Amino acid sequence: MDGTSIFGAMQALQFGAQTVNGLLALKVSSEVQTKAIELNSQIIAAQGHIMAIQSDYAATIEEVKLLKEEIARMKSIGGEREKYILHQVERGAFAYILKPSVDSSEPAHWLCVQCFDNGHKKILSANKRVTGGREVEHQCPHCKNSITVHHRRRIQRLTEDELKIQIDNIEGRRVD
Ligand SMILES: [Zn+2]
Repeated sequence: MDGTSIFGAMQALQFGAQTVNGLLALKVSSEVQTKAIELNSQIIAAQGHIMAIQSDYAATIEEVKLLKEEIARMKSIGGEREKYILHQVERGAFAYILKPSVDSSEPAHWLCVQCFDNGHKKILSANKRVTGGREVEHQCPHCKNSITVHHRRRIQRLTEDELKIQIDNIEGRRVD
């Protein structure tokens, strides 16, 4: 069933109701009148059912539209995922960062781990100084998750050397 056939069914019922009303306007026996009134209430019930189907149909159309958008987004992020690698910016502070091999004119940036894992590309932005100015909190504009790094930690592309280093081996806080 599509929108056109729902509309067609509603129209047919509308004509049916008009016919019944026409019948009731005629001089007919009370028996016919009773039957016509019964038929009328059945038509009204059928119209109610069609309206419910119509609203379900509209909801389904909306759902399909959202799913299509979601698939398109996941496809586009799928390509993006190849360009990034999970990186420990500082101890306990993780972000997705562009791989050195990626040819990109985009300025260096850190992506929110949680959002990227959920298919959203959200860039962390320096939010505020914390720990008496010693550290800076970088926050995700979407989920509000944040990482805290030394205030002199620069946002830069990962180098080939860094890529080779086992990130887990970084000890303490290296300040560039
Ligand atoms: Zn986020």
